[in-house]
Amino acid sequence: MGISVTDLSKHYGPVAAIGGVSFEIADGEFVSLLGPSGCGKTTTLRCIAGLEHATGGRISIGGRLVSAPAEGLLVPAHERQIGMVFQSYAVWPHMSVRQNVAFPLSVRGVSAADCASQVAEALRVVGLEHLADRHPSQLSGGQQQRVALARAIIGSPAVLLFDEPLSNLDAKLREGMRGEIHRLQRRLGIAAVYVTHDREEALSMSDRVIVMEQGRIVQVGTPRDLYRRPRSRFVADFVGKVGLIALHRQGDGWASTDGTAILVAPGEPCGPTALGAVRPENIRLLRGGEVAAAPEVNLLSGIVTEAQYLGPFTEYVVDAAGASLRAFAQMDLPVGAPVTLGIAAEHLVLVPDA
Ligand code: ATP
Repeated sequence: MGISVTDLSKHYGPVAAIGGVSFEIADGEFVSLLGPSGCGKTTTLRCIAGLEHATGGRISIGGRLVSAPAEGLLVPAHERQIGMVFQSYAVWPHMSVRQNVAFPLSVRGVSAADCASQVAEALRVVGLEHLADRHPSQLSGGQQQRVALARAIIGSPAVLLFDEPLSNLDAKLREGMRGEIHRLQRRLGIAAVYVTHDREEALSMSDRVIVMEQGRIVQVGTPRDLYRRPRSRFVADFVGKVGLIALHRQGDGWASTDGTAILVAPGEPCGPTALGAVRPENIRLLRGGEVAAAPEVNLLSGIVTEAQYLGPFTEYVVDAAGASLRAFAQMDLPVGAPVTLGIAAEHLVLVPDA
């Protein structure tokens, strides 16, 4: 069993950084903690690592209870069988690559021969064998982060913890490293927790994503689940671009503020009003007058208010049904053009408007 967190809380004086967070992560599973700055993701990770002491709740790693403040139990960080990678790399400038990677083993008293072979293997895994004798100042940012990765995986940890490890790298390198971290974790088959505020990173790397807001979990799901079926306005907004149409009940169905009947996907139970959430790629842009064939499609008249050419497509903002909706299309339309938006009912997801 990878990681189990039950009712975890952490207070800094009167400030509740996290309040009652629970989740389980299986061996081999890659889970991201995603949320805006200050939502408590780093604090959660640091409590798992043992770098912060939780105020309440229980944490188990690899089936072993490591934190239960109510019972006075606290296993120190260096006994928790974790490998951790930080945003700042945290490699030591006065040590060579080899010495940096060997450090966790040397403090545990592993024999020199054992240490040498494990270091060689870890460096091979991250592709740095040829740079073993360099110092960090002689390495690029991406190479330094690989040193940190090698140091995290040495000594067969039960779990890997990542705290925004790619935020200091440039965009291109970041994408490459995403794949590298993911492949490495798959190979090791151990649980990984990855803290990020970058939704693309979370969606592209994770088996499941835990979305946090103000010290609490607001939704947990696979990347597709979260993107396609957000259960709140906050999640809809945080995991991607979204258009939100204000709706009210009308007879058995729903209508927009301008009185147009709107067909929606079955969603969360809502009150008399709600929001219909739709992703830009699920809106078909039709020139004014053109009509879509399928029956379960909302046809909304609108006017183009913004157009941004992005190469593969143009991102339009269209005022329709009392909302500003983003849509992607390859056609070329000027601002002010009348259009019809085609939105299939299955792509309009109800979320509470509160
Ligand atoms: P970021 O993405 O900016 O790192 P985060 O989601 O990781 O944000 P945390 O760093 O976990 O958020 O912080 C959660 C809350 O706890 C914030 O309101 C923060 O101000 C508060 N906090 C964190 N560390 C301390 C501390 N040492 N003393 C007091 N408050 C703290």
